[in-house]
Amino acid sequence: MQPFYRCAGPNCGLLKQSTDRWWLMWTSFGDFNRPVLYLCSWDDQLADREGVLHVCGELCAQRLQSQFMGNILDNLIKRPTLNASRSSP
Ligand SMILES: [Zn+2]
Repeated sequence: MQPFYRCAGPNCGLLKQSTDRWWLMWTSFGDFNRPVLYLCSWDDQLADREGVLHVCGELCAQRLQSQFMGNILDNLIKRPTLNASRSSP
């Protein structure tokens, strides 16, 4: 059975056809001790990993990147103690 993938882009939900050239995106915190957004071309093995987003194209990748950046800014605003600690000697 062919697994099916649906685009994770906001308001998209497109189903992947076998010949479509899609993209993969995911976020990881571990490698650099901060949220990092990964984007790479489609890979069947990577696509089945937990937390990996399936993206139909550039537009949806841009929307997801925008969401990611927005979430980070929200977190920075909600945690002003991070900035305050920088001024202490
Ligand atoms: Zn899409």
